Amino acid sequence: MSWDMLLGHRPSPLEALRDPILDDLGLRVFVKRDDLLAIPALDERFPAFSGNKWRKLKYNLLEARSLGYEGLLSYGGAYSNHIAAVAAAGRIFGFKTIGIIRGGPYPTLNPTLDFAHRCGMQLRYLEPAAFKMLRNAGWQDSTLDVPCSYLTLPEGGSNDRALQGCAELGLEILSQTPADYYCISCGTGGTIAGLCTSLGDTPVIMGFPALRNGGFLLGDIKDWIEKNNPAAQRNLRLETAYAFAGYGRWDNRLLEFMHDFHQQHGILLDQVYTGKMFFGVFDLIRQGQFPRGATICIIHTGGLQGRNGLP
Ligand SMILES: *Cc1c(COP(=O)(O)O)cnc(C)c1O
Repeated sequence: MSWDMLLGHRPSPLEALRDPILDDLGLRVFVKRDDLLAIPALDERFPAFSGNKWRKLKYNLLEARSLGYEGLLSYGGAYSNHIAAVAAAGRIFGFKTIGIIRGGPYPTLNPTLDFAHRCGMQLRYLEPAAFKMLRNAGWQDSTLDVPCSYLTLPEGGSNDRALQGCAELGLEILSQTPADYYCISCGTGGTIAGLCTSLGDTPVIMGFPALRNGGFLLGDIKDWIEKNNPAAQRNLRLETAYAFAGYGRWDNRLLEFMHDFHQQHGILLDQVYTGKMFFGVFDLIRQGQFPRGATICIIHTGGLQGRNGLP
């Protein structure tokens, strides 16, 4: 049954957004509701496993099953949606899981780590300097004592199989309503890279890094595109002004925007990724950055489990 949820899913809805400001400016805006592409978490308010984490894990889980891996091991920060997703996937699809967490150990687990722990994930902590060295080494380290029957996924789950899943996101939108502009939140950049490999070369693809000074991601994203589909489009830009105080940080301005957006459109956003991106898109819209007559597709990548961390 769970494997059918992964393989036999229907396209997530593409919904038109109604807002007087859009009519004034002559813009058509759609939201790709990948937040609704969700595998329900067992007894939580929010799915732990939805949106781009669903897309990114799909082919990794199928690979783990077909190669007979016993478990999944991955890396992430204490607020990582990817860690929560791997933990939930392990519980639902029957894999043991190990999460290597940057920093810690923490006297009390935050909601993300607590969720992962309750899903049965074994949490191990690595000091930030060692974590960074592992990242630079491409997540390979013989000293980590990783059981060989575990499939290792990089931080954020961004690997070639994840890009394959995110390419399907692009194909799905093209079969619904193609847009002139695509807007999406970025952490490692794997999702936007996968999207770029499938959208053709006319539209503009705009990434909104959730971390400060995220401009460096452009190199990584281009490398991924080059490796997976060298012919793919490069009409790509990063909007780096909407990271607020940095990854996992937010302020009342952002929370108010998220609240108002939910009131007006009935769509929940999270404060780590999608809230910042939607905030940025509407700011650019108000600045007149999109030409009259343009169609904009805003991709809701899910991440609502992060709302468990809100006060
Ligand atoms: C993880 C995450 C992202 C970032 O994805 P990358 O592929 O690492 O760029 C964006 N949005 C949400 C909701 C996420 O959970």
